[in-house]
Amino acid sequence: MPNAKAYAASSATSPLAPITIARRDPTANDVQIEILFCGICHSDLHQVRNEWSGVMPTIYPCVPGHEIVGRVTKVGSGVTKFKAGDIAAVGCMVDSDGTCFECQQGLEQFCANATLTYNFPDKHTGGVTYGGYSDSVVVDQRFVLRVPSNLDLAGAAPLLCAGITTYSPLRHWGVTTGKKVGIVGLGGLGHMGVKLAHALGAHVVLFTTSPGKKDDALRLGADEVVLSRDANEVNKHAGSFDFILDAVSANHDIDSYINLLRRDGNITLVGAPEKPLSISAFNLIMRRRSFSGSPIGGIAETQEMLDFCGANNITADVEVIPIQKINEAYDRLLKADVKYRFSIDMASLKA
Ligand code: NAP
Ligand code: ZN
Repeated sequence: MPNAKAYAASSATSPLAPITIARRDPTANDVQIEILFCGICHSDLHQVRNEWSGVMPTIYPCVPGHEIVGRVTKVGSGVTKFKAGDIAAVGCMVDSDGTCFECQQGLEQFCANATLTYNFPDKHTGGVTYGGYSDSVVVDQRFVLRVPSNLDLAGAAPLLCAGITTYSPLRHWGVTTGKKVGIVGLGGLGHMGVKLAHALGAHVVLFTTSPGKKDDALRLGADEVVLSRDANEVNKHAGSFDFILDAVSANHDIDSYINLLRRDGNITLVGAPEKPLSISAFNLIMRRRSFSGSPIGGIAETQEMLDFCGANNITADVEVIPIQKINEAYDRLLKADVKYRFSIDMASLKA
């Protein structure tokens, strides 16, 4: 098996450091990709620090990264979708059984036998999957996406998680022209939520804890910005939203947002904080409101999202960093100090 360069965490408390990992030789249906850019998702940080130990405990060494864009270097004999030299992308999943009810509906994210891009049993190597903080990856063609040629690659990488994770619930809950939509938290997911909801035609209100992000939010497509620590400002929107997307990475008062929904409004949680959130029964009952969660999106919908972004010229706002700055980037992510996604230039891994 060929070796690949990567960055890994060796425990929940150790910084990420260089490592050499084995990648499989491409089998008939595989696409081998030289990784050009990989976004840094807050999930990478949760996983590296084993903050989701109750649900998906971290196996070390852990090579994170599931916002991957690169160039195809080799394909297996059965690959029809890609050829060497093509630009290709990989998100949070690299496999699924392809036969179950969910897969047949194109909803691979709900397949009980799906394989996530990292920290999952790897049925090819018998080890664990390793993600995109690496110079290469080998993935079944079913899980490889096309990037519209007009999109900047560093900014396109975050679409593979932050983009689809916000696009999917916005579409599922019927966000379109005339709907009033709230986005909570202007981080990697939140800023994609603002751009996509705006492009879908909604009236977008951004809730942020960071006064310094107000002008950016308006530039990104928000119609209004509310400082979430100002209860008076928040409550002016009581009972008015069709849909709210909560993309906060830490514990916060989600109940105060439920109260902003109109009758039959929905709030969907995509943020995955470590600790449980508290919700008042009456806030939901009184206006028949609903509270949901949503994980990433299926492969067909991910391609639809990429094509939508191509047609609307949407990419993430990125700060491109060399891999050597990864630990500093994690510290800054925890302080909500990134505008609005780090994208690792993987050429730095060759240095
Ligand atoms: P991020 O870039 O770090 O953004 C999180 C934002 O949340 C921050 O920018 C900040 O926005 C806000 N925030 C942070 N701490 C807060 C606090 N204590 N109280 C209120 N607001 C706070 O993270 P991300 O990469 O967008 O990910 C967000 C969450 O989604 C993470 O938990 C991640 O694991 C999860 N996620 C879920 C899925 C899924 O499939 N459901 C996929 C990807 C990621 P302001 O500065 O504007 O307040
Ligand atoms: Zn992610």
